[in-house]
Amino acid sequence: MERSTIVRVHEGLHARPATRFVKLAKGFESDVELVKDGKAVSAKSSVKLMLLAVKENQEVTVRANGADAIEAIEALIGYLENPKAGLDDEEPQSPANDAAPAPAPQPAPAASSEASSLRGVAASEGVAIGPAFAHFPPDIAGQGRLLQADEIAGEIDRLRAAIAAVQARMDRALAQDSLSAGDRGIVAALRDIAADDSLTGEAEKAIRGGNDAVSALITAASTIAADFSAVDDHYLNARADDVHAVGRQICLVLLGQDDVSLENIPEGAILIADDIGAWDLARAPLKRIGGVVCGHGGATSHIAIIARSHGIPAVLGLGNKVNALRAAQEVALDGNSGHVIVDPDAATRADFAGRVEAAAKERAGLSVFKTVTPKRADGRVIEVAANIGSLEEIEAAQEAGAMGVGLFRTELLFMRHMHLPSEDMQAETYAALAKAFAPHPVIVRTLDIGGDKPIAGIEFPDEENPFLGWRGIRMCLDRPDIFKRQLRALLRAAVHGNIKVMLPMVSDVSEVTRTRALVDECAAELKAEGAPYATFDLGVMIETPAAVLIAPALAKEVAFFSIGTNDLTQYIMAADRLNPTVAKLNDVTNPAVMSAIELTAKAGVAAGIMVGMCGEAAGRPDLIPTFVEMGLTELSMSPASIQRAKKTITAMAGD
Ligand code: PEP
Ligand code: MG
Repeated sequence: MERSTIVRVHEGLHARPATRFVKLAKGFESDVELVKDGKAVSAKSSVKLMLLAVKENQEVTVRANGADAIEAIEALIGYLENPKAGLDDEEPQSPANDAAPAPAPQPAPAASSEASSLRGVAASEGVAIGPAFAHFPPDIAGQGRLLQADEIAGEIDRLRAAIAAVQARMDRALAQDSLSAGDRGIVAALRDIAADDSLTGEAEKAIRGGNDAVSALITAASTIAADFSAVDDHYLNARADDVHAVGRQICLVLLGQDDVSLENIPEGAILIADDIGAWDLARAPLKRIGGVVCGHGGATSHIAIIARSHGIPAVLGLGNKVNALRAAQEVALDGNSGHVIVDPDAATRADFAGRVEAAAKERAGLSVFKTVTPKRADGRVIEVAANIGSLEEIEAAQEAGAMGVGLFRTELLFMRHMHLPSEDMQAETYAALAKAFAPHPVIVRTLDIGGDKPIAGIEFPDEENPFLGWRGIRMCLDRPDIFKRQLRALLRAAVHGNIKVMLPMVSDVSEVTRTRALVDECAAELKAEGAPYATFDLGVMIETPAAVLIAPALAKEVAFFSIGTNDLTQYIMAADRLNPTVAKLNDVTNPAVMSAIELTAKAGVAAGIMVGMCGEAAGRPDLIPTFVEMGLTELSMSPASIQRAKKTITAMAGD
C-alpha cells in the first residue's frame, strides 16, 4: 500500500530530518520505502534517504508492506507534511559538519638551505619551540587476501563489534556536557552514518565475497562516498567526507590502532600537518598549541587568520618539505621570518628559548595598553578594532582592549550550518555582537563567499578563476533572497547597538546604489510588519583595483571605506594570496600597493568620510605610522595585535 504527498520539511530530507524519518520508520515492522521520481529506497536507511535528495515541496510516495503498513504510512506521511508535530526533540537540531574547506592545495615546495632548516610563508608572527606533534593521519589498507569460507562469519562479527565500538564512542562524546553545539552536530551526523544499514550492509556483502573487514569497509565507504559526491547538492557532497571519516574510525578499531587526534596535543607542542581544515583547527585545543607548521596555506589563508587571532606563531606553505618534519622530536619556528628548524641544536634551542621569553615579557609590558585610547598628535582618536568571525571570539577581542569590531566576517555563520542561516538567527548573532561592544561600532561585512568555498543552499557555477568570479557583493546582488535576509537581520540588530555594514569585493558604484535600494526595500518591509529596526551606516571595502580607481565616486555614496589589504595586494600584484610560490610578490609594502592605499585615503579624506583598514597589514607596527599619516583613523586587526598597535600609535603622538 502507498500514499503520495508534498514534502513540507524545511530544506528537504537532509541529515537530521532524514534521521528522524528513519527513526519513525524503524518503529514499524513493515518494510517501508520512500519513492521519488520512480526511484524507491528503504525508509530505514538515512544514508539512502539523503542520497534520494528529497527537497522541500517535492512530491514523494511512502510505500509500506506488512502488518502495520497503514500505521506506518500515516505516521510517515504525517511527518513529511508536518515535521514539527508530535516529535520528541531529544536530538539536537545542531549544525552538521559543514567543515570549512581547507585552503586550495599549493604545489610549490619552499626553499631549504640545510636539511634541518626549512623556509615557508611567515603566516603568524612570534617564535616558538616545543615538542613536535605530527598530524599525518596514516593511510589505511586492508589485508588484501581472500578469506576462506569458514572465516567469513567471524569476520562479519569482528566488523559488527568494531561498528558497535565506534557508535559507543560517539554516544559517549554526545553525552559530554562540554561539547559545543557545533561539535555535537558533527558527532551526531557521524554517528548516524556509523549506525546506518547502508554502510554495514555494503561492507558485509563485500566480506561475504571473501574480503577482509578492513578492505570491505574501505570499499563500502568509497562506494557510498562516491554516491554523495555525485549528487548535485553542495551539502550532500560534503557528506562524502563524513562517510570516509566514519569508515576510517571503524577501520582503526579493526586494526587495533588509535587515530591521530588534535585533542591529545600536548601543552606547548608544535602542530605539524600537511594540511588542516580551518574548522578542525578552530575546534582544536588552541590554548595548548605552541605553533603551527603546515605544507599548505599562505599568509592570509584562514588557518593563518585563526593562528594570528589566537597569537599562535605559524609557518605555512612548506610544500613537500613538511614531510621532513614527520619524524622530528622538537621543532623551533619563527613566524616572522618563516624559518622552521628541525631538532635544533643546543645553541639554537637557547636562542629560541631566549626569544620566547623576551616575547612573553613584551606581551606582559603591552597589557597596560589594553585600556588606552590611542590618539594622533592632533588629538584625533584612532580606533583600534578587532577582526572576528564568530561570537566565540568576542572575549579575546575584549580582553585585548578592542575599540569595537572593524570586520565581522559573516562567512563562518554560513559555512557552519547545513542550511542558510535564518533571518532570526542572523539577527540574534549581529545583535549579540552589537551589545557586546556598544557604544563602539561593530562593522559587519555582508557575505563574502565564492565558488572556492561551498555553502549549503547556494549553487555556485564551476569557474576557471573563482577569485575573479561570482563572489562577494556580485553573488549577493544576484541572490536577493539571501542578501535581503542578511540586510533585514542587520536592520533589526541595529536597534541593539552601533552596527555598521560594509560590502566586500566592490568594483562598481552601481553595486552600492543597488544595495542601498535593497536596504530601503527591507526597511519598508520591516516597517510594514511593525518589526523594530534602525538604519545603519553603509560602507565599502576597498580591495579591488577598480575600487581604488573610483574611490572619489564611491566616497560620495558611502559613509566609510575599509581597506582590505589582503585582497587588494593579491589583485594589484596579480599574485594569489594562497600561493606560496608567489608569496614574495604578494607584499603589501610593494610601492604599487602602498600607492593604492594612499589614493584611497586621499579620496576618503577629501570627501570627509572615515577611512579604515581591516586587512592584515593594519596590525603591522612598521606600517601603522604611515597609514595614520595617510589619514586612516580606524585600524582593525587580529585581537593579538591590538595592544601593540595602540602602543605604536601612542608612541607616534609622543614623537
Ligand atoms: C581583505 O581582503 O583584506 C580582507 C580583510 O578580507 P578577507 O581577508 O576576508 O578576504
Ligand atoms: Mg577580502
